[in-house]
Amino acid sequence: MNEKSMKNDMPQWKKLLSESIVTLDALPHPLPTHREKLERIISRYPMRINPYYLGLIGEESDPIYRQCVPDIRELDDADAAADPLNEEGHSPVYGLTHRYPDRVLLLVSSECAMYCRFCNRKRKVGRGSMVTDTSIEQGIGYIRAHEEVRDVLLSGGDPLLLEDDRLGEILRAIRAISHVEIIRIGTRVPCTLPQRITPELAGLLQEFHPLYISAHFNHPLEITPEAALACNRLADAGIPLGCQTVLLKGVNDDVSIMGTLMRKLLTIRVKPYYLFHGDPVRGTSHFRTSMKLGLDIIRGLQGHTSGLSVPHFAMDLLGGGGKVPLLPDYLTGQDGDALLATNYAGKSYRHPDGNDN
Ligand SMILES: *Cc1c(COP(=O)(O)O)cnc(C)c1O
Repeated sequence: MNEKSMKNDMPQWKKLLSESIVTLDALPHPLPTHREKLERIISRYPMRINPYYLGLIGEESDPIYRQCVPDIRELDDADAAADPLNEEGHSPVYGLTHRYPDRVLLLVSSECAMYCRFCNRKRKVGRGSMVTDTSIEQGIGYIRAHEEVRDVLLSGGDPLLLEDDRLGEILRAIRAISHVEIIRIGTRVPCTLPQRITPELAGLLQEFHPLYISAHFNHPLEITPEAALACNRLADAGIPLGCQTVLLKGVNDDVSIMGTLMRKLLTIRVKPYYLFHGDPVRGTSHFRTSMKLGLDIIRGLQGHTSGLSVPHFAMDLLGGGGKVPLLPDYLTGQDGDALLATNYAGKSYRHPDGNDN
């Protein structure tokens, strides 16, 4: 099948998006129990599963299913905060978060090609009011007025669900600001709707270099021929690709799955960037793992396989403290002038320290 559908002139990605499942009845695997509760969940936290991503589900409760089909536990953790990272508190204008000295996060779309059940913007994603033309305009105005901003991250929702024309307008406005050095786009589309990465889109994006893309894959089953084509197309347009993976119970909470995912990402030219400890976001607690598990996964990768495949494991501090990297301890002590260290295989070594005088 080519990029255009046969039936009409709608591009394939739009057709897939329009055929998304948004109600319980449309789900292929029956959800016989807790119907009423699941209906309430969907009315609070929208469901959207496009036919491509739906097709990756092998069976009920598999790692793909868990990422996209609502779970009754989503209403069970009222104690967790809706906005634990206090994004709203660090928003000088609605839809823009300025948390670090030299970079900002700007929301440019309310929609995604699939609503992740573990989304950390679950409180507002999929709602029309999340982003407006005015909020984008004001966000760009803020960047223009703040010369310290040299790095702009577009997020949402998914920026790549915007039409090419609209995305081009936004990118052009940001590129016209001389103090902006780099632009980054955070998107799940290469994973959840790779058909969106058309040659036209890749051609558009390459007008705005230096431009980086942070993709988001969580499981090896998501690395399909379609995803590979999309990522290779972006890489061929000179766009460096990173991946932000979220550590999720029942999805990828295992060192061998994570190792396979990271190595497969490298084969489609995506460099693992972050592995996030799940944020304590209301409606997502059933996905959270312990800190120790994440450290064990990093320990299981570092040294055992290509260093390129090892992401930064990080947590985003409650209240908006920002991301902090978490590393297993390889330095175990000091003995006089010697450092004591343990290598990836668990063997201890003495290594001479230097001095700074
Ligand atoms: C994650 C994030 C960034 C970017 O952080 P990097 O470590 O530079 O990738 C910027 N702003 C906000 C609000 C973020 O959450």
